[in-house]
Amino acid sequence: KSGFVALVGRPNVGKSTLMNYLVGQKVAITSNKPQTTRNRISGIYTSNEMQVVFVDTPGIFKPHSKLDDYMDKASLSSLNDVDLVLFMVEPEEAGKGDQFIAEQLKNVKVPVFLVINKIDQVHPDQLLPIIDSYRKLGDFAEFLPISATQGNGVSDLLNAIHKYL
Ligand code: GDP
Ligand code: MG
Repeated sequence: KSGFVALVGRPNVGKSTLMNYLVGQKVAITSNKPQTTRNRISGIYTSNEMQVVFVDTPGIFKPHSKLDDYMDKASLSSLNDVDLVLFMVEPEEAGKGDQFIAEQLKNVKVPVFLVINKIDQVHPDQLLPIIDSYRKLGDFAEFLPISATQGNGVSDLLNAIHKYL
């Protein structure tokens, strides 16, 4: 199997980190500063079962400037060219920025997975209320808790991607 998968989410949720983990090389720039990934960067994951091109998008967020607005449109229009979207969030209940992105994702026709990253920072009991807060915001095909730095949950994520491609 093969396909294209887009990574979307607020700045700093760990999109580039996940991409680097999957692709195994420093293809996307990670930093504590938001919006390092100005342009879309792709990386290819290959295994015996599948080949996936991951597209790391600049953050989709509420536009404050013409440049932001442009990046927004570029990000959004790319989302129907892929086979699957990973909406990545932090392990906390949905905030304003996440709600805004979830709203934009309602127009996307391909399946959207809700990927809760940085689970190494929370107790497992905290996950259920987080998942519930996102259930209200959209029709997500899968809910996948992961840690992009430690690798927890990443094989489940890859299995889910394989299932949908
Ligand atoms: P992006 O803006 O969404 O691309 O986010 P980055 O990949 O640049 O990551 C932002 C920050 O979060 C970096 O300091 C990462 O090291 C950190 N980070 C990413 N994934 C994880 C994770 O699973 N656990 C923890 N504790 N930190 C993470
Ligand atoms: Mg990034």
